[in-house]
Amino acid sequence: MLLGCIADDFTGATDLAGMLVRGGMRTLLVIGVPTPQTLAGLQADAVVVALKSRTIPAAEAVAQSLAAWQALRAAGARQCFFKYCSTFDSTDAGNIGPVTEALMRATGAAFTIACPAFPENGRSIYRGHLFVGDALLSESGMQNHPLTPMTDANLVRVLQRQTALRVGLARFDTVAAGATALAARLQTLQAEGVAIAIVDALGNADLLAIGRACAELPLITGGSGVALGLPANFARAGLLPADPALAAAMPALRGHAAVLSGSCSSATNAQVAAWREQHPSLRIDPLRIAAGDPVLESSLQWALERLPQGPVLIYATAEPAQVREVQQALGVEAAGHLVETVMAGLARGLVAAGVDRLVVAGGETSGAVVEALGLSCLRVGPQIDPGVPWMLAEAPPERPPLALALKSGNFGSTDFFAKALAQLEAAA
Ligand code: ADP
Repeated sequence: MLLGCIADDFTGATDLAGMLVRGGMRTLLVIGVPTPQTLAGLQADAVVVALKSRTIPAAEAVAQSLAAWQALRAAGARQCFFKYCSTFDSTDAGNIGPVTEALMRATGAAFTIACPAFPENGRSIYRGHLFVGDALLSESGMQNHPLTPMTDANLVRVLQRQTALRVGLARFDTVAAGATALAARLQTLQAEGVAIAIVDALGNADLLAIGRACAELPLITGGSGVALGLPANFARAGLLPADPALAAAMPALRGHAAVLSGSCSSATNAQVAAWREQHPSLRIDPLRIAAGDPVLESSLQWALERLPQGPVLIYATAEPAQVREVQQALGVEAAGHLVETVMAGLARGLVAAGVDRLVVAGGETSGAVVEALGLSCLRVGPQIDPGVPWMLAEAPPERPPLALALKSGNFGSTDFFAKALAQLEAAA
């Protein structure tokens, strides 16, 4: 293993893992802090540990991140990458500053960078100021975020409030001058006493230069954008397979396929509607679950009768007015929990019945499904849509293979479900 990554949330971890796979690194996604045993013997160039540490107390985020790094280092990681959101989601209490400090100590890094830029997604940094599209971060809507309101776009100031280490800035002019100039500038900053440098970036060429300039740093921190340039460092050193496409390879799967949808986002509502026009689908009603009807058993039976003819969709997805009605009757959390429990049971039943390609819509829903299936390690495959790759459950050889596409909220095009399944058929 070459690169050990720690991501502060699940979708961020998936995003980063997808980026590394596209760069030709065979990448595993591990859910929660791994033990050294979890990672022992795994074949991968990169491992991304997905934590849920973005908004937990700083001390807990530090403890989890350090435990993750310990396991990654024991498995052979040579470089550490700490991944956070491209909008630098954090508060003055942390967690980006405290986790960076702790990982610097653990990796022996005297200096690192902080670069959340992801220009393809509209996140660029100029003179240390983060822009979301054309707006400063602090005027982008992020100033109203319920948990991590970002009211200051100057990342040098934002990060300096989170750490006792000195924060500096590598300006766009040196980044644009290329990797060699930037590496020299980073050394000068370090000699001047800067421990963490915010780095400007306006496009992919900048990210590639940053990746190259940071090849020798024990720790790099940033959004998934800055990971764009990292695989090339390992490829140049002759440490990656010659064919980058190999990293995304998936086995041919010939079992049944199914879609479970518990997301009520507008994108998912459109995706469910598009699927229903052409394929069998069944809606499950949270009120019937609450009334004690055997919804799980009957919908599983419905699916098992149809799977031999082709893929099916089971969904709780509903329009906002219907969701409100259910939530008023049952309570928000209870309604969510009832639906998630049924989705989790369906996933178990479907996989037991020979489903080997499962598409799941909804972040929480995906979490419930992954937990119910007892999965803690997923091999990342080809991208379906930005931010959503196919993943293969890493399981003992006696267990049949299982591919999962976990799509949160508003991700994916309208034909996402059919497109995802067709992609694997084409690969087979
Ligand atoms: P997203 O990624 O779109 O936020 P999640 O799965 O994270 O999707 O969250 C959706 C939540 O809504 C889940 O807890 C799910 O169980 C719940 N839910 C799904 N369908 C309904 C419904 N018809 N009424 C009420 N809650 C629902």
